[in-house]
Amino acid sequence: MTADRIRGIGTTIFAVINSLAAEYNAVNLSQGAPDFDTEEWILDIAKKSFDKGRNQYAPLTGVPELRSAVSELYQKQYSLFYNPESEISVTTGATEAIYSTITGFINPGDEVIVFEPFYDSYISSVKMAGGAVKPVTLHYPDFSFDSSDIEEAVSPKTKMIILNNPHNPAGRVFRKEELEIIASAAEKYNLIVLSDEVYEFLVYEGKSHIPFASLEGMKERTVTVSSTGKTLNATGWKIGYASAPEHLTKGIRKVRQWTSFSVNTPLQLAMSEILPLMGPHLEEFRTRMESHRDYLLKAAENCGFKTAHAEGGYFFLAESESLSGLEGLEFVKWLIREKKVALIPVEGFYMNRIDEGKRLVRFNFAKSLSSIENAVKNLMPE
Ligand code: PMP
Ligand code: GLN
Repeated sequence: MTADRIRGIGTTIFAVINSLAAEYNAVNLSQGAPDFDTEEWILDIAKKSFDKGRNQYAPLTGVPELRSAVSELYQKQYSLFYNPESEISVTTGATEAIYSTITGFINPGDEVIVFEPFYDSYISSVKMAGGAVKPVTLHYPDFSFDSSDIEEAVSPKTKMIILNNPHNPAGRVFRKEELEIIASAAEKYNLIVLSDEVYEFLVYEGKSHIPFASLEGMKERTVTVSSTGKTLNATGWKIGYASAPEHLTKGIRKVRQWTSFSVNTPLQLAMSEILPLMGPHLEEFRTRMESHRDYLLKAAENCGFKTAHAEGGYFFLAESESLSGLEGLEFVKWLIREKKVALIPVEGFYMNRIDEGKRLVRFNFAKSLSSIENAVKNLMPE
């Protein structure tokens, strides 16, 4: 009975693994949601926000206060100007921004270039729009790509390229030269760029984030997506935003008005107060996540995994083969059952090199130190 457009779309791996983790009472290092609470000052602002008497629908574009705060953030952080009236849209998480961008611009038969391993929502959104995904592989262990692979993936039907930087699940932060290769392909083939930058504030080792829209000529063709959930450890609030020139914003808003129409008003208002104050929090959060990354990378190696370095975001990938002889989802199921630790198998995040994906699992270091220590204890060979 289901519509053709959702045929072939399964249950997201995050839901599958969360339920197995709960069933076996495993330490859950899978889904990208921290297990420590949002900071108290953030919660205090949110609580007060419900007393402002603005508890009805927000405008479909987002409350003006939040669009202005996002605009100011882009200007302060990256010297990029987005008009809060016509170029910034508040969305129900980055997920809705991604869905709206793809639905707003992809026709049946259009092709979309996506780097693999990919975040799974891109693929389902492209499928639901009737488009086709053309994967370009980021090669393990450094997750670099060949520019010739982009050229090969392009066809006259290509309309969009999706970039995720910092990258989920590989933890890559792309160098300027790599972004420039993507930019020149976008220019040459007249592509829309969907740049998912939800981990923009989690870049480690003193490096800084380069927004794709800041590259020469790219702002006019780029939709940048971000998520306050990731930035402020409040993933449950589901407040994201899309920033794009007016001609692209119009398409995004047309779709959004028929998905959720508007986002939770008091939490948007709270977020508009929180964004200008978040500087010290970000420093602290980044330092904390970087130390969790360092600890878990080393511990995973000691437990027999071969890890790939992560430069940003919540995750790193590791090879698991030698541990049980199993791979992919079967390995993770074994790990949950026998070791009481849940990770994410990434075979489903590949289309070309599924063999490479089967060898890899994703660790999430955006968890409390005690969860990480418990997981490590469980993983240690007896
Ligand atoms: N993009 C990436 C790369 C993600 O990892 C996630 C979720 N963790 C999202 C988008 C979705 O973000 P949100 O929860 O704000 O919808
Ligand atoms: N983005 C989160 C992750 O990669 C998952 C969010 C979701 O479950 N949709 O873990």
